[in-house]
Amino acid sequence: MSDTVNRQILLVEKPTGKLGPEHFKMVKGAVPEPKDGEALVRTRYISLDAANRAWMHGATYRAAVEANTVMAGGGIAEVVSSKAPGFSKGDIVFSSDTGWQDYAVVPAKHLTKMPDVEPMTHLLSVYGIAGLTAYFGLLHVGKPREGETVVVSAAAGSVGSIVGQIAKIKGCNVIGIAGGKDKCHWLTSELGFDAAVDYKDGATFKALRAAAPKGIDVYFDNVGGDILEACLSLMNNRGRIACCGAISQYDGVPSAHGPRGVPGLIVVKRLTMQGFIVMDYMDQSAAALADLQSWVASGKLKVQEDVIDGIENTPKALIGLLAGENRGKRMVRV
Ligand code: NDP
Repeated sequence: MSDTVNRQILLVEKPTGKLGPEHFKMVKGAVPEPKDGEALVRTRYISLDAANRAWMHGATYRAAVEANTVMAGGGIAEVVSSKAPGFSKGDIVFSSDTGWQDYAVVPAKHLTKMPDVEPMTHLLSVYGIAGLTAYFGLLHVGKPREGETVVVSAAAGSVGSIVGQIAKIKGCNVIGIAGGKDKCHWLTSELGFDAAVDYKDGATFKALRAAAPKGIDVYFDNVGGDILEACLSLMNNRGRIACCGAISQYDGVPSAHGPRGVPGLIVVKRLTMQGFIVMDYMDQSAAALADLQSWVASGKLKVQEDVIDGIENTPKALIGLLAGENRGKRMVRV
């Protein structure tokens, strides 16, 4: 591998405002050699996640991303050479941190061998973190019952589009919140949502109240802030809020704000508001994957992917995701 170049994208500076292309730089380094217990992998697909931006703020469920290091990110990769028991050349693996680079050396404990799935991109979307987050967050935290009203924000994104479809499979009345008329139309006409609210149109609370005349039983929150505040006021007694993420607070927001109504509305309406991290449920992933596979096979669950070509386009792809360019799971093919 000595002649092969490893293209790497560094985060050169942590953004204080909005993330821009100036915060990244591409360099060419050497391909690293694995030590005992490690494998050298070649990145095939880099996962683009809203959380990539949150990691720049500081430590979350993982360490913060630091300036002048390879930008962190998970992905699907192929083992090139291995000194790790259980992994051999040609294996397809998921790693939560291959980073934004062609090649990475990864300890075996951070690699998961993946089954042969066609197309391979489904390993990052419906059968990856996005699908499992939607599944566990909705069914184990939100606990929707047939006939209830479920609202999901960032509904046209990777997690949200799956949440809404699973809620439909479970017999719920489903409302998606997304940015723009086209995305809202797509949710109702293609994905089977009962209604969609365009939060960029202003008056989100009014539109949501009209779409959910019987109130909200489960709110799957991907965004926090004002949308969470609007949903809180419309929750029914004993409703459940599954706190999945807070995109509205990730990129260039000077100080996190909202929602008002906490804890007052939680007390009066006897609400349960619970955060979760998908990794906590990994011991139950086989059952979740079996359900997801059967729903995909029967056509009940549509998989939407947004694949961008070229490692050099990864910064633009993340900036665009934060601005709402994507429909479904965004990733970069390396
Ligand atoms: P998505 O594919 O959902 O893309 C992000 C979407 O967020 C954009 O397309 C955009 O769509 C929307 N958005 C951006 N800014 C705002 C805003 N200010 N208000 C409302 N919507 C906004 O990304 P991910 O699937 O990566 O992330 C979805 C959520 O899931 C995130 O909160 C993430 O942190 C969380 N997550 C949590 C996990 C867990 O274990 N708890 C695991 C994985 C993800 P639009 O055009 O509609 O604005």
